[in-house]
Amino acid sequence: MTTILDGKKVSITIQDELAEEVRKRNLIGKKKPHLAAILVGDDGASITYVDAKVKACERIGFESTLIKLPEITTEKELITEIQKLNNNISIDGFIVQLPLPNHINEQKIIQTIDPKKDVDGFHPQNVGRMALGLPTFLPATPNGILEILKRYKVNTVGKHCVVIGRSHIVGSPMSILMSQNYYPGNSTVTITHSRTNNLKEICLLADIIIIALGKAEFLTADMVKEGVVIIDVGINRVTDETKKKGYRLVGDVKFDEVAKKSSFITPVPGGVGPMTISSLLMNTMNATKLNNH
Ligand code: NAD
Repeated sequence: MTTILDGKKVSITIQDELAEEVRKRNLIGKKKPHLAAILVGDDGASITYVDAKVKACERIGFESTLIKLPEITTEKELITEIQKLNNNISIDGFIVQLPLPNHINEQKIIQTIDPKKDVDGFHPQNVGRMALGLPTFLPATPNGILEILKRYKVNTVGKHCVVIGRSHIVGSPMSILMSQNYYPGNSTVTITHSRTNNLKEICLLADIIIIALGKAEFLTADMVKEGVVIIDVGINRVTDETKKKGYRLVGDVKFDEVAKKSSFITPVPGGVGPMTISSLLMNTMNATKLNNH
């Protein structure tokens, strides 16, 4: 039997829990968590992601501030904006929406963010803490994946987990977290990437596959064994004239055929994507508590 890991449903539950926590905090005079986001330029996908984050804040009673800067913003100007947020005590956490325009050094920007307000968990200090298993802000997408595994009680202990993709935001942290001595985790992890030989043979040995690749329907049924757990992070647009927008979203997994062999599987859309936002909101609540508000 296949269980669909319904990220949308879990995400709504998490947001309801957070809304309840905000309500209780209000009753005892504690401030609302406040998330800020900086958006540089007018990349369509980035605008959509940031808008969704702001709307989610409104829904659950968080305060939110959106700072929109033009594409021509210099690195120095962006650093000045970040420093203002670092010093603004009413802001508990903030994110700088990536990718940034080419003339801005992303690493330099990330390192300017106060690690105590780095709710995306990208600052090297927080990445280091994550690698050591210390309390920190976990990056939103991997944290969302852990949360969905936990809420569906998926057994990860002693399982062979194959991570496909080694990006700093998904694949690499995911491989670290799944190997740690916690639940969800305690898996035996293989991380694979564009230079991996025999990917199919490796995948056929996997009990759990976490795929963050960015190639539409890359993982097919012949690459997985019966009973596998599939976490599909990919979000890809494929042309579809039957849709009003002219495209539809698919993951990195050929869902229909792989689902038949899976014990658990995330759909796209409605799987990992919604979890990412809830995870950011959980980090913002934690930042509020950490900053003694
Ligand atoms: P990326 O685009 O930075 O990198 C892709 C990775 O895939 C690289 O590490 C590369 O080595 C690996 N790769 C490429 N070809 C490969 C092959 N043939 N075999 C094995 N590995 C190969 O990765 P990303 O930023 O993690 O994004 C991956 C996908 O996940 C994208 O579709 C992105 O839109 C999506 N994404 C979704 C969410 C979400 O919230 N659901 C969050 C982040 C990213």
